[in-house]
Amino acid sequence: MSKIDSKDFEKDEDAWHQFSNAGYSSASVDFDDKEISDQENTEEEWFDGDDFEFEGKTIDWNSPPCPTPLGIAHMIKISTCNHCLKRVSGKKNMSGEEIRNEAYTRDDSLESSFNKELCPLCENLFDDIENIVERIIEKIDNLEYTTIQIGIHLPKDLIQESHEITSRHGASQSMPLKTSMVLAIQNTINSKLGTDINFVKDRPDIMILVDGLTLRVDVDVRPIYFYGRYRKLSREIPQTRWPCRACKGRNNGCESCEGSGLQYIDSVQDLVGEPLRLALDAKDTSFHGMGREDIDVRMLGTGRPFIIEIKKPMSRLPDMSDIVKEINKNADGKVEIDDLKKTERPLIAKIKNSRSDKSYTIRFKLSEEIEEETILKSISDLSGTTLNQETPRRVSHRRADKIRKRKIIDINNIIVDGNEIQFNIRAEAGTYIKELVHSDEGRTNPSVSGNLGVDCEILWLDVDQIHDDDENKDN
Ligand SMILES: [Zn+2]
Ligand SMILES: [Zn+2]
Repeated sequence: MSKIDSKDFEKDEDAWHQFSNAGYSSASVDFDDKEISDQENTEEEWFDGDDFEFEGKTIDWNSPPCPTPLGIAHMIKISTCNHCLKRVSGKKNMSGEEIRNEAYTRDDSLESSFNKELCPLCENLFDDIENIVERIIEKIDNLEYTTIQIGIHLPKDLIQESHEITSRHGASQSMPLKTSMVLAIQNTINSKLGTDINFVKDRPDIMILVDGLTLRVDVDVRPIYFYGRYRKLSREIPQTRWPCRACKGRNNGCESCEGSGLQYIDSVQDLVGEPLRLALDAKDTSFHGMGREDIDVRMLGTGRPFIIEIKKPMSRLPDMSDIVKEINKNADGKVEIDDLKKTERPLIAKIKNSRSDKSYTIRFKLSEEIEEETILKSISDLSGTTLNQETPRRVSHRRADKIRKRKIIDINNIIVDGNEIQFNIRAEAGTYIKELVHSDEGRTNPSVSGNLGVDCEILWLDVDQIHDDDENKDN
């Protein structure tokens, strides 16, 4: 992953947290409980022992709470709507209207005292449910999903007011305003669509945020993540999309990139990601590899683990085996994958932090002929040693300049072919293999070049295996 990708990723993550904290978690009862207990500390000051004025009507703080008949009568007198009556009266099996009618039967003077003014517990917000749901349905109409999360933003003073009244006069199991609103929205969506949507509180396919003040509805289509392993069979393909050096990929590219905006037309990211993006009707992709190899290095064996993130997919239920076939057909001779499994975002950090040994084959050329016996001994001597590797010159512009200690676990199968040499090597994560051979002007110590006392020119390098936990799981 490039630096730019990683910044974007963090930015995404930040935005997500802000979004999430902005109100999604508050759809849960727990959150409201916390909010309420925070307020309870200030209760003494709030009430001051006096009556509380709302819209010109005096609230009688001395009446007993619901579900007593006096409590319910009191709620009706202060213009509580049917929705709030249901959620605070403690009569779970009755509708708001039934609760009201029962109270009217007990006391016929109540009906005339109720004047349908603004409900002090919700400011008649429940009247907007139909309107809100219409907006939601319009926005999710063309999307594919199995889970939805709904959050609602309500003005703080409304929540506070609702809570103060409820805590004095409501039943002990009253449902908080936000929870109640979210439930009402969910039920209305299901009845309008004739569906039984799985509404969740975590990791939804779609997040919907409703602003209770402006009735604005925001829909966020969450990304889909697929885990796989790729083999790269070409020495001309970067792992991630690489913008054109001349135009940086801006304004539909330039002459030097023939309008592609890319330095390399192919990348593992696009060879794997484009068929997926098209199949899922998505906006873009992001590629997260378990490390990366240089462009001119092949990635063989069981391949390198990666997660591809599909952003804003309109469709979420593709036939994966068809897509994998399509990817392999499209990338024939360049990149191969075995399968793609749906996964979740936390696995990205896990594969990014993985520190696995790797096995390689390297082939290089000596500047002078040397006796075979000397070559075999000099190279074998490096097996089991620990290298001091100063940051290679070729990457020093993007990495801190420091000396790293890296262990060479094993070197074997050394082949001497005139002045061309080849061997297999297994080394600790983060070892620079090309530098181990040519020494990077003495910045890697010890090295093949240093031991032999001649220059070494790298011909090619292959990663043969990444020895992570998942290495043999699928075989
Ligand atoms: Zn109400
Ligand atoms: Zn260009």
